[in-house]
Amino acid sequence: MADSNDDYPHGWHKKSEIERLIFSGLHGAPQPNADEKRRYLGLNREQVMAVLFDHQVKEPAIYIEVANAIKDPRAAIMILNGSIDVIFTAKYKTLAAAAGLHVTTVSGPEYSPATGLVVASDAAVDLEIIECGSRSSRLRSFGISDALIKCAGKKVCRKCFGLIKSKVPAEAINYKQLNLIDSLTGEYCPAHGDSE
Ligand SMILES: [Zn+2]
Repeated sequence: MADSNDDYPHGWHKKSEIERLIFSGLHGAPQPNADEKRRYLGLNREQVMAVLFDHQVKEPAIYIEVANAIKDPRAAIMILNGSIDVIFTAKYKTLAAAAGLHVTTVSGPEYSPATGLVVASDAAVDLEIIECGSRSSRLRSFGISDALIKCAGKKVCRKCFGLIKSKVPAEAINYKQLNLIDSLTGEYCPAHGDSE
């Protein structure tokens, strides 16, 4: 076995059955799910209920797919990538803690830097779709303007808030409504630059 001193079983699939057995005995069995664990911040894919890329976590809005996964009674844990600043993760931490999930942060080269957040069960759930598509594209498909999409986390006028509530009700968690006092103090709707 020319490559028996390799740390990783290079050429693994070309090895004969007996070589595999020997190699496993010497180095421990290879882990077919090592890539999965790297991608899902230490978890297996079968446990995962929702996953966000790091750039998605850094958006001001809360992804409603994640909010829904947190509320799911099967959810037990939320893992955050420690490379992301707490100003971006706080909104998810608050939600998860309120729902009684165990929240933990991991960091190190064994975790994919592209993965920002994982919500998971402590058992296999085998969900078909765990990735979350672009929030902007989804809202655009409901006829929401780019300006209003970008107002996530801000106060908007009654009309804009009503539009969100009627077209994509779950997205209301990402908006607040300007009140009368705001209007009197000259606050305007950031989605279009006036108060009505
Ligand atoms: Zn408005």
